[in-house]
Amino acid sequence: MALEPESTRSGAHAFNYSPAPESRAVARLRTSYGLFIDGGFVESIGGATFKTVNPSSEEVLAEVTSAGPGDVARAVAAARRAFEGPWGVMSGRERAKYLYRIARLIQERSRELAVVETLDNGKPIRESRDVDVPLAAAHFFYYAGWADKLEHAGFGPSPRALGVAGQVIPWNFPLLMAAWKLAPALATGNTCVLKPAETTPLSALVLADILQQAELPEGVVNILTGDGATGAALVAHDGVDKVAFTGSTEVGRRIAEIVAGTHKHLTLELGGKAANIVFADAPLDQAVEGIVNGIFFNQGHVCCAGSRLLVEESVASTVVAMLKRRLATLRLGDPMDKNTDIGAINSAEQLGRIVALADAGEDEGAERWSPPCTLPEKGWWFPPTVFTDVSPSHRIAREEIFGPVLSVLTFRTPDEAIEKANNTTYGLSAGVWTEKGSRILAMASRLRAGVVWANTFNRFDPASPFGGFKESGFGREGGRQGLGAYLDD
Ligand code: NAD
Repeated sequence: MALEPESTRSGAHAFNYSPAPESRAVARLRTSYGLFIDGGFVESIGGATFKTVNPSSEEVLAEVTSAGPGDVARAVAAARRAFEGPWGVMSGRERAKYLYRIARLIQERSRELAVVETLDNGKPIRESRDVDVPLAAAHFFYYAGWADKLEHAGFGPSPRALGVAGQVIPWNFPLLMAAWKLAPALATGNTCVLKPAETTPLSALVLADILQQAELPEGVVNILTGDGATGAALVAHDGVDKVAFTGSTEVGRRIAEIVAGTHKHLTLELGGKAANIVFADAPLDQAVEGIVNGIFFNQGHVCCAGSRLLVEESVASTVVAMLKRRLATLRLGDPMDKNTDIGAINSAEQLGRIVALADAGEDEGAERWSPPCTLPEKGWWFPPTVFTDVSPSHRIAREEIFGPVLSVLTFRTPDEAIEKANNTTYGLSAGVWTEKGSRILAMASRLRAGVVWANTFNRFDPASPFGGFKESGFGREGGRQGLGAYLDD
């Protein structure tokens, strides 16, 4: 469904789209899934299960196992055996073959993975097909290339793996986050216990099937589904040598407390509140596309989303008008339709958070706008929303909303832009739009953000390190730097 009926749009001959649904049969979902431990699917010791649902329809997709402390102990023991056994003694060249094989199998099963991801997460099929799955394969390809070159990577002449990695990931890019965690860990010779988010376990379980297909030695990767309690048991387990967490700052803080004072290494990839800074000399058409991609891609469920638009005062009204026109052309609705731009919100809980923060924006005096839009009756939905007249003290300018909500602020000078952009407890990413290369470099060197995009936004590449400052966490994933997080100092 378009946000505004085509007949009412300006421009007499607006395009009419016919439905173009992807086939859900491709997903080949099972009715229930066990835990992936020691190379096979097994039942939980405690026998607890939970259901995973399609956020766009609230239909139950499958029953999934909830791992308890006993299961965590089994998985960590399997990972330890694999580390001390075949994987730990294998040469980098041999390990690379497995990574290449996994990458190729992800490509071969890309359509199935994209459909599973969209059904379980609610993101548009166009995004899972064109972004999540290809980038996940690219991560395995990239790190496969490093596996036999570690002694040349700048970590000393004979870098050593840490051991067993306990990895906990969020629901916004389920397969891609699994790839970000597993690929560098395996390339460096570690073994893994991965815990996907409770609302999006399915693509990781398809990945488990792929690992079997790739004949990865038993126990090298174990996948435990469950909620925060499973994650907490995993990070607290004595047999884990390295904890890698991606998720909210609040949970990251708790994990840091648990891990403090132990032998465990830790990396935290947490929340963000990025500034997307548009100067008056920027190519405004391109900037508007970048703003839309920055905050409405993946329904704004993006840690590095450009959720604060800082626009130079002289062009602010022009940019906001262009942005509103563009937003009225976005299509919100069935995530399985190949024409859909905006899918469902991943859970009722997340929708509740978005609604509460957007309401707070209005209560605090900001001006709220959404394109005319009828939301589907079933499932969890939120229209693309723009707030103007936002002041830096408003909650919508300070707190991570993690939804399709943009807060617009203005600035007059580069100094003011820097001051406002850095006026946040986070520091994950930022964007700068200007015609002047020298200004881009000057701004980038003063922005306290792990990633600064210039005349683009939300671009990802496995060769490029990603990570935050301040409450966005520490450690880098991706690139050569991502290897360091899994190697002994
Ligand atoms: P969350 O912190 O609620 O959950 C993340 C994961 O941690 C889930 O698997 C969850 O089950 C698990 N978990 C919950 N409590 C735990 C505990 N006490 N101990 C161990 N594990 C626990 O976050 P979320 O809502 O799933 O994800 C959204 C957040 O993730 C946002 O803040 C977003 O910015 C962040 N994120 C960051 C990055 C990054 O690279 N910096 C990438 C994606 C998402």
